[in-house]
Amino acid sequence: MTQRITVLGSTGSIGKNTLDVVARHPGRYEIFALSAATQVDLLLAQCAAHRPRYAVMASAPHARQLAEKIKANGLATQVLQAPDALETIASHEDVDAVMAAIVGAAGLAPCLAAARAGKRLLLANKEALVVGGEVFMRAVKDGGATLLPIDSEHSAIFQSLPEDAATWPRRVQHVLLTASGGPFRTRAPGTLRDVTPGEACAHPNFSMGRKISIDSATMMNKALEVIEARWLFDLAPEQIKVVIHPQQIIHSMVQFVDASIIAQLGTPDMRVPIACGLAWPERVESGAAPLDFAQLAALTFEKADAVRFPGLHLSWQALAAAPGTTAVLNAANEVAVDAFLGERIRFDQIHALNLATLEAVAPSNADSLQGLLALDAQTRAVACELVQRFQ
Ligand code: NAD
Ligand code: MG
Repeated sequence: MTQRITVLGSTGSIGKNTLDVVARHPGRYEIFALSAATQVDLLLAQCAAHRPRYAVMASAPHARQLAEKIKANGLATQVLQAPDALETIASHEDVDAVMAAIVGAAGLAPCLAAARAGKRLLLANKEALVVGGEVFMRAVKDGGATLLPIDSEHSAIFQSLPEDAATWPRRVQHVLLTASGGPFRTRAPGTLRDVTPGEACAHPNFSMGRKISIDSATMMNKALEVIEARWLFDLAPEQIKVVIHPQQIIHSMVQFVDASIIAQLGTPDMRVPIACGLAWPERVESGAAPLDFAQLAALTFEKADAVRFPGLHLSWQALAAAPGTTAVLNAANEVAVDAFLGERIRFDQIHALNLATLEAVAPSNADSLQGLLALDAQTRAVACELVQRFQ
């Protein structure tokens, strides 16, 4: 039967890769709805190619522009406006699967709507889970949703774990998240204060959105992924380890109690975890090139340097602190990345701002969506205020 899919954030890197995989399997998948923040022309082109029932834009002016162009092009897609419309297309009764590919905490509410509606939820939007934590996982359980990780490390862990989740606690010793180390893995730490947004966005193996590119450069991406793994696989924080593996061929591993390790390998191409999530437990062609072992020179591994990457350890610290601390960390980091991209703070000040914000905000009301969104907003206000003082 054809699976009807909503793609939240269809104009981004993950969104475009999702549509690429979907287009390879016309009878199997059909696009029900698409959404974007501001990219009117790209969303129009995606509507022309995939003929969705709905398209959602983040603001009224953008929604009006898109609606005019949709009409002028003779398309039948109905244009709606966020934020309410994102929840509508994520939970609509005619939708089977939702690809959550919005960046940041902005994706939390539609993720929860999809979870509560019992959808197959393909989660790329790691910040939603970092902010939502227990509330998110409860919504998945209560709604009877199927949560499938799209982040390549978590997809690798998911594929390496036994299918029966009830057996994980007695079988799994720990998981090993691999990290590329980003563009500054070998750069002298003393020169990191001078790096530009352009240099920080130049990831060695992937072309990704700007936020995750900066997070890869600071390794805050891995910090968020540690928190993501804690919730996805119900692990204790100390069961999550990180190892740098610059070639990004091993996407992550699970070590079992008998010291056996199972890893998932492949070329670094996000279409692989996307195809895996779309088809699971089946497999479909992804468009990715297979790994050529004869061409593979070496797989290397190193420890993450705490001086170069001071933000990595904030994940374990936040998980050990009061509930809601991970939401504070996420909001601080979103503000910090935005301020760095806007050249209002230096690269090394991203970590300083995260630390200062964690110290300034005492998390509360972390047990509901409303409480978490309020905490997110409060933290952003504090972090924005701190940015002024950093200049
Ligand atoms: P991106 O910046 O390329 O795309 C983000 C998408 O979200 C765009 O369609 C944009 O229009 C939309 N969007 C942004 N802000 C929004 C808002 N406030 N309201 C509604 N829509 C909004 O980002 P990306 O690289 O595709 O990453 C998306 C998510 O997937 C992130 O959470 C990222 O951490 C995660 N992820 C990405 C990759 C990757 O390779 N790009 C890998 C693993 C995980
Ligand atoms: Mg990842």
